[in-house]
Amino acid sequence: MMDFGKKDFSEEELVRLLECEDPEELAAMFAAARQLRQERQGNKIFAYGFVYFTTYCRNNCNFCYYRRSNDIERYRKNEEDVLAVAKALIDSGVNLIDLTMGEDPQYHAEQFETVCRIIRTIKETYQTPVMISPGVVDDAVIDKFAEAGADFYALYQETHNRALFERLRIGQSYDERMHAKLYARDRGMYIEEGLLAGVGEGPADIVRSLKTMGEIGAKQVRVMSFIPQEGSPMEKVKSPDRLEELKIIALMRLLYPDALIPASLDVDGIKGLEDRINAGANLITSIIPPKSGFMGVAHNTMDVDEGGRTVEEAAAILERMGLRIATKDEYRAFLAAR
Ligand code: SF4
Repeated sequence: MMDFGKKDFSEEELVRLLECEDPEELAAMFAAARQLRQERQGNKIFAYGFVYFTTYCRNNCNFCYYRRSNDIERYRKNEEDVLAVAKALIDSGVNLIDLTMGEDPQYHAEQFETVCRIIRTIKETYQTPVMISPGVVDDAVIDKFAEAGADFYALYQETHNRALFERLRIGQSYDERMHAKLYARDRGMYIEEGLLAGVGEGPADIVRSLKTMGEIGAKQVRVMSFIPQEGSPMEKVKSPDRLEELKIIALMRLLYPDALIPASLDVDGIKGLEDRINAGANLITSIIPPKSGFMGVAHNTMDVDEGGRTVEEAAAILERMGLRIATKDEYRAFLAAR
């Protein structure tokens, strides 16, 4: 049985834990991950509102529903609608607004002026931290996001195996993506790095991703299980067993005790929350107001209009687990202390 109290894990140990099937050892790993979270933040769990404001994209990622070649209905919300949904999320108790977009050519053409205005309003008028997830943009645009006050820049490599990256993110540059992330970090934004489970990676690839997350100084680290998307080239690829995602969450917590690690409602909806929190996640993402006309990414409508992806619903589950949603001040204090 591994000593989960130690601070460092060799690559061989991480591979072994990713391959582990012993229920007792896995239970000990999840318990150690929860214990670390408890030591850092007690019974508080953070919550992020998700605002996916344009589903147009110039790219053709093989795993994505919103890829350019997929013939689907798309939307591009206006500034007023984006601010209205952000305000509703803030009023419902989220700690941060995650502004997410496809790589929409229209926003690139207007140099993200609208997005910067939205960031400023959320920061200055609504006094709430902002994460921007715009895909790859030029350094000059990242400068503008930093000046507008964005706190986080989220950009997921999905894998740190270059050959696999090329098969997933067709025609895109691994290095440009990594550069944008590191440039944002150097401009003073926190960065979020992420990986996708179940897309052809092996344990050694996952370990490489886990190590890279630390090396680049990611403050928030994410894993999501692949969900097959209708009309995409990976439509017939099976979604992986969720144990892989849960193990990765636990290992991220053991390696990076202070990290923000999401339990995303986008993979399995609200019913997937408890397992991910029990694996060591400290943050709920993809909270979307019902009937707002805004979508998720991997499961674009699951639980949304039924009201399953709300702070209220998540809080009720947390309460049964002896946990609660943090206040905005508690979230700010957590960020400031790190
Ligand atoms: S993953 Fe993002 S960049 Fe890739 S096609 Fe989908 S929306 Fe576009």
